[in-house]
Amino acid sequence: MTPARAPYAEIVVDLPVGQPLTYRADGEREGALVGACCVVQLGRRDTVGICVARSEATSLAEQKIRPVKRWLGEIPPLHEDWLAFTRFAAEYYQHPWGQVAVAALPPLLRTPPGPRWASTLKRHRAGAIDPVPEPVGPPVLNAEQQSAADAVSTSSGFAPLLLHGVTGSGKTEVYLTAIERLLAADPQAQALLLVPEIGLTPQLQSRLRARFAGQPMVCLHSALPSAERSAAWLAAHEGRARIVLGTRLAVFASLPRLRLLVVDEEHDPSYKAGDGVRYSARDLAVKRAQMLGIPVVLGSATPSLESWSLASQGRYRLLRLPRRATEAAQPNVELIDLRQHELANGLTEPLRAALEETVAKGEQALVFINRRGYAPVVACDACGWLSACPNCAVFAAFHKTDGALHCHHCGWRSRVPRACPTCNNQNLHAVGQGTQRLEETLTAVLPGARILRIDRDTTRRRGATDAALATVHAGDTDILVGTQMITKGHDFQRVSLVGIVNADVQLVSHDFRAPERLFSTVLQVAGRAGRSGLPSRVLVQTRYPEHPLFAALQRLDYEGFARSQLAERQAAGMPPYVPQALLTAQAKSLEAALAFLASARTVGRALHAQATLYDPVPMPLARLAQVFRAQMLIEAPRRSLLQAFLREWLARLRDGEPLPGPRVRWQIEVDPQEI
Ligand code: ADP
Ligand code: ZN
Ligand code: ZN
Repeated sequence: MTPARAPYAEIVVDLPVGQPLTYRADGEREGALVGACCVVQLGRRDTVGICVARSEATSLAEQKIRPVKRWLGEIPPLHEDWLAFTRFAAEYYQHPWGQVAVAALPPLLRTPPGPRWASTLKRHRAGAIDPVPEPVGPPVLNAEQQSAADAVSTSSGFAPLLLHGVTGSGKTEVYLTAIERLLAADPQAQALLLVPEIGLTPQLQSRLRARFAGQPMVCLHSALPSAERSAAWLAAHEGRARIVLGTRLAVFASLPRLRLLVVDEEHDPSYKAGDGVRYSARDLAVKRAQMLGIPVVLGSATPSLESWSLASQGRYRLLRLPRRATEAAQPNVELIDLRQHELANGLTEPLRAALEETVAKGEQALVFINRRGYAPVVACDACGWLSACPNCAVFAAFHKTDGALHCHHCGWRSRVPRACPTCNNQNLHAVGQGTQRLEETLTAVLPGARILRIDRDTTRRRGATDAALATVHAGDTDILVGTQMITKGHDFQRVSLVGIVNADVQLVSHDFRAPERLFSTVLQVAGRAGRSGLPSRVLVQTRYPEHPLFAALQRLDYEGFARSQLAERQAAGMPPYVPQALLTAQAKSLEAALAFLASARTVGRALHAQATLYDPVPMPLARLAQVFRAQMLIEAPRRSLLQAFLREWLARLRDGEPLPGPRVRWQIEVDPQEI
């Protein structure tokens, strides 16, 4: 054990350096401790770092070692559990420790303190925790909820629990009860509740606040203004907040007395980070619980196949809530065969009639389509021209609201040309359906119905989502049209019909996870219906009604679906049976990106590890914002072998072997979700 007063401090910073950097650690009284944040000089600039160890000796020349410039002793040091956790995450996802640890600090701590730092800190400490409205008592739990909550409360040590309950079965009540019991039993304990998106479920926030009146709770997510985020982070770090409700980034929150972790809707793809360190907050939550020896609850109506297979092997304990908590009936899933029913602007007559009937009865309907805009592409009938984004290898969608073409990937926009740019034909057509067109169609075929569209375009303003959802709750909306955003946890009371307009897009996708996503999307959106006991219908328009996925959906049979998918994955040697990683390269030409990957593969094969390196191929989106992208899949028989191979291989790639050609950038993604 190195003495705390050893002369050197090992510091990690938010830069791509492999090892912690050595500094001289004068200033014990100012807080030169392991876990402390500090300011160090690096080259010519100052940066924030975290001291991860003290050391007696160094191999560096004494005169080369700079002293730490300033210890941020005003902030209590980060706990060694937190350091160990961020270090694990960094190693697992093959990133430098500092780029995980320092990057997880709040805005307040990301840059060296300016002159007003102390007063900012004081303000943050004063203001983090919201007052609570009137408390609301818990409902009486049913027998299944009771035994699920007991399983959490009576577990000891590391206990991963998979709570599989249909939507509306009362999973949230189980989380809240478990948290409540924990806080009552241990006056200092902290609980972390992760949700996919906070903005989409304002009800959950108010439900928690009402339930835990008097208990300090904070929210942590990326949409918070930076002052609020810093204040919330500090409250968690200093143990003042007892409940943290957060999105994926909150898995890295500093919680010195964390005793319970909950991951709600654990199957949701938004737990996977899309850039930077591509971590899975769900997987890290389980790891964090394991390192701390505490329970972690993963809840979903449609668990990820990864979690389901672990539960089937007995590695997670499975808790079931097989029925809805209230009177609500399960919805009836019906298929509309597109080979028999013609589409008029994306809508079949049976779906139109069902919508009309629902509105006439004074009930509400949801219509789901996973494309925003008016139409995905504009076409010229005369010469076959299609509206493409000039920067990306995708079509540019037509948005009628501003009469422009939009690229949903790079943000490019341009007015729709009056005539075809290649043949000058003036007859251009918007092809296919998006939310805007569906809204227009519904308005035309259901005169008098109050229709509201919710997608990323209608909810850009802060508060717009809340306002829109409020009109649905107030009963001022008959039909809600929208993207994925309408499928998440809202608790709409009078919805009795759900229409799914273009399920087939996902059915015929090249991604092996597409069926899993489609199944869970349909069940989730179906779960919005019938909450208040109204008999409810889910109508799915499809050209492939015989597809086995639909048979399972009609039986609302998640378990049967999961079994057959897992059998297919096992037979084909795919995750979760075979761990994967993905090396991606970006360059000014596709050839350069592919060439880099090919030489990286040569380096990898020379290591003679038990890893399979597949052929480099262009990415599904092969050009994005003028940059060409290619990828290479890596597999190994076991996770440990994959980890060992990646460590050695990436060390060589970082050292410039092979030399990346002019401006090739590369990234590694462990457990990629989209291939
Ligand atoms: P889930 O998280 O599984 O979708 P919720 O916990 O949100 O389910 O519960 C769905 C609805 O049922 C909520 O309105 C909730 O208040 C209600 N509810 C949950 N458990 C009970 C119960 N034991 N008794 C009565 N109502 C309940
Ligand atoms: Zn043309
Ligand atoms: Zn683009």
